[in-house]
Order: sequence, then C-alpha cells, then structure tokens
Amino acid sequence: MPELPEVEALRGFLAEHLVGHEIVRVLPVAISVLKTYDPQVTALEGRPVTAVTRHGKFLDIDADGLHLITHLARAGWLQWRDRLPDGPPKPGKGPLALRVALETGEGFDLTEAGTTKKLAVYVAQHPGDVPGVARLGPDPLADTFDEAAFAALLDSERRQIKGALRDQKLIAGIGNAYSDEILHAARMSPFKRAATLTPDDIHTLYEALRATLTDAVARSHGVAAGRLKSEKKSGLRVHGRTGEPCPVCGDTIREVSFSDSSLQYCPTCQTGGKPLADRRMSRLLK
Ligand SMILES: [Zn+2]
Repeated sequence: MPELPEVEALRGFLAEHLVGHEIVRVLPVAISVLKTYDPQVTALEGRPVTAVTRHGKFLDIDADGLHLITHLARAGWLQWRDRLPDGPPKPGKGPLALRVALETGEGFDLTEAGTTKKLAVYVAQHPGDVPGVARLGPDPLADTFDEAAFAALLDSERRQIKGALRDQKLIAGIGNAYSDEILHAARMSPFKRAATLTPDDIHTLYEALRATLTDAVARSHGVAAGRLKSEKKSGLRVHGRTGEPCPVCGDTIREVSFSDSSLQYCPTCQTGGKPLADRRMSRLLK
C-alpha cells in the first residue's frame, strides 16, 4: 500500500505533468470506485488543473476549484500514459478503474489489482467534504508538527504505539510499513503502550519518525510512478523482511500478527531479545 512518501512522490509527479493542462475526459470504468455522485465526474471536464496536493494518503487534483480526490488503498495504483489509447476502455476487464485524459492526449489510469476493491475516488467542492480527509490527524512532515505537538497527541493515547502510529485520525499518512520502520529506527517495541512513553522515549520516537519519513520522501522524489513500489521496498529495513538479518544487528527479523495483518520487528533492537507473543495464536491455545 502506498503511504505518505509514495503518495507525496506521486503528488510531485502529477503536479509536474498535470498543472496547466485541461482535463477533457474522466471515465469511471469500474463504477464502484466512485464514492460521490454530486458533483458528477463530467463537471471536471473542460477544467484546467491548477494544483495537486496531498492529505495523508489521499491525492487531491484541484481542477480550478473542483477536486478529484483519490485514496489508492491497498492494491490501487496510478499509471501515467504518454499517449492514451484512442478507443474507450472495456469495462469489467482487468485492473483499470478510472481513466483521466488531458487535452494533450496524455493522461493517467487508476488501477486496482486483486478482488478486494477498496480504491476510492471522490469529486468534491472542498477536500473536507470527503469524510476520510475531514477526519485526518496532522501531517507528520508539516512544519507545525514538532515534538511538543507529537507529545500532546500521545498524551491521552491508551493503545499500543504500533496501532496509534498507523491511525489516520491521530497522524495522517503512516501505514503498516512505515510504522514498522519508525519503531525499528527508534529501537522500540511495537506493543509498548503509548501512555507509558517517557519524555526521552517520545524524543527518540519523534526523531525516528521524522528521519524515516524524510528519508523515504527524498528517496522517492523524482522516481517515476512505475518504479515507486520497488523503490519503497528496497528502502525498508524490517517491514516485509521476515527471516532476513536485521541490517543493524544481524538478528533474524520476526513477524507477529497485529490487527488485520502482521508486523515485522527485530527482537535484539526492539524487544530486549525476546520474541513477541502472537496474541491471536496464544488466544487460540488458551
Ligand atoms: Zn536489529
């Protein structure tokens, strides 16, 4: 799933390719991706793109005051097309979900692989009209997101830190991969309760969060849309690397189930050498 750094790279890429150009067609191929019906997608046609912004993991294409907003979810992606095919796309075939064409003959496709359809597209007068955008917590790379702001967010937080970091309502843009990376960089157990963090812990975690995301954004910057996924994977140190050696200490990276998926961590770096108990498994065995 694309997270803040990849969405930020896509934003930069789209800003470069779309701003100043006119949208001539918007074709929802999989109707289910459209989450709004008023204004209609056709209202975007004939409008120039004036800006491309990001809200958490949402991309926001501003077409002269009308917004085309998308959340790529787990299996969604954006494919830039230097030249779109002449004929209309066939509905129900392949991963194509929505096509946007410019007056230049260029455009992009939003695609979604697999059978779980979570890719979402909205047309809105204001970004805040999209419920998922309205609920977002602060952006962790914003200038105003300093250590005091981070500490204030965690102050009344009762959950484990892994769950808190990937909650979009608390902090916008961090998902399963970068929360694993941030906690590894901070040498902190993913199961640590947020409320038990000391000021030193919060300082360490804040520094790890900013450094991890800033590095990932810098790495992704300017990378073509088609190569972003492999670029993301190559930069991850523990996430998705179960069984591989930790690049810091050489211990074997382990995996444990968490929420609706699993997380990866290094026991030596993060949990005093002790493997975390798989709660789902131990619950089953009781
Ligand atoms: Zn390690």
